[in-house]
Amino acid sequence: MQKVNLKGLDLNELRDFVVSIDEKPFRGDQIFSWLYNKSINSFDEMTNLSKELRDKLLERAQIDQLKLVVQRQSGQDQSIKYLFQLEDDSQIESVLMFDGNRATLCISTQVGCAIDCKFCATGMMGLNRHLTPGEILDQVLAVQKLNGTRVTNVVCMGMGEPFHNYDNLMKACELLSDELGLNLARRHIVVSTSGLIPKIYRFADENHKYRLAISLNATLDEIRSRIMPLNKKWPIAELMKAAAYYTKKSDLRVTIEYVLMAGLTDSLEDAKRLKNIVKGLFCKINLIPYNATLGEFKRPEERRIMQFYEQMRDLTVPVTIRWSKGDDIDAGCGQLAVKA
Ligand code: SF4
Repeated sequence: MQKVNLKGLDLNELRDFVVSIDEKPFRGDQIFSWLYNKSINSFDEMTNLSKELRDKLLERAQIDQLKLVVQRQSGQDQSIKYLFQLEDDSQIESVLMFDGNRATLCISTQVGCAIDCKFCATGMMGLNRHLTPGEILDQVLAVQKLNGTRVTNVVCMGMGEPFHNYDNLMKACELLSDELGLNLARRHIVVSTSGLIPKIYRFADENHKYRLAISLNATLDEIRSRIMPLNKKWPIAELMKAAAYYTKKSDLRVTIEYVLMAGLTDSLEDAKRLKNIVKGLFCKINLIPYNATLGEFKRPEERRIMQFYEQMRDLTVPVTIRWSKGDDIDAGCGQLAVKA
């Protein structure tokens, strides 16, 4: 008999499962708490379940978990990059970053990515498969256990386009924010998209209270289409309309991510155009100096980065430069890719 993997099931699904093995529904609530609140991966440790039930669970169910392959700590800051192996031997990466009291985990949502952004190491892998809800949220559970730290913030900016795996992502976010589970504040979960416009509208209409970030990265369609081919289908003006729709529906700021690449997206004209593009949008802007990953694209000199930033300063919305963490361990933005 095929065993049921319980990791990734929500409360109703766990209740249904225990009823299917002739147990009372509240046993599902107990298992939910062991899995997502106490991060227990073994039935033997679920001490409020009878021995008889634990034996039955061993026969009928399993709890999949990520296996740590290797972890590397940055020498520049405290960031840690984790390489995990999944049940089918695929591998994914997650990055833990510290900032004051915040411990932010950047998680993956797919093995590889189909979006093919030309500056991104993950994009070069192509898409292998979507992660399941259990695999998405288990990155948080596993890192908390390994590091002994409570993860306070989650950003879905690791390997994969989160909205390409929409349903599994939303289920994982629900489990992460469930009061009986990890109880992460919804506003502390950020979903980042390269610009899958129909999913932005859906996300807005469903009124999730997670935050949205959009990777813009260029101010001209010609350039954006070159570095992010999905722009040919969903150009900048349409993307900004979708962003405005999200802010109106959610009453939350959208984060506009803008990667500065030398000679491509870092001119003062770009800065002026960027100001025009976000005019009237309830947003904040993150300028991200590119992490040299793929030879063709280069990081601007620091002087250039500061000039761009200065040009943006008269905007009334917050503008910050996000100096990537973990550059020395290939953990910065656009650097996640499993090196076979
Ligand atoms: S930047 Fe994001 S969406 Fe683009 S290829 Fe990389 S992982 Fe995929």
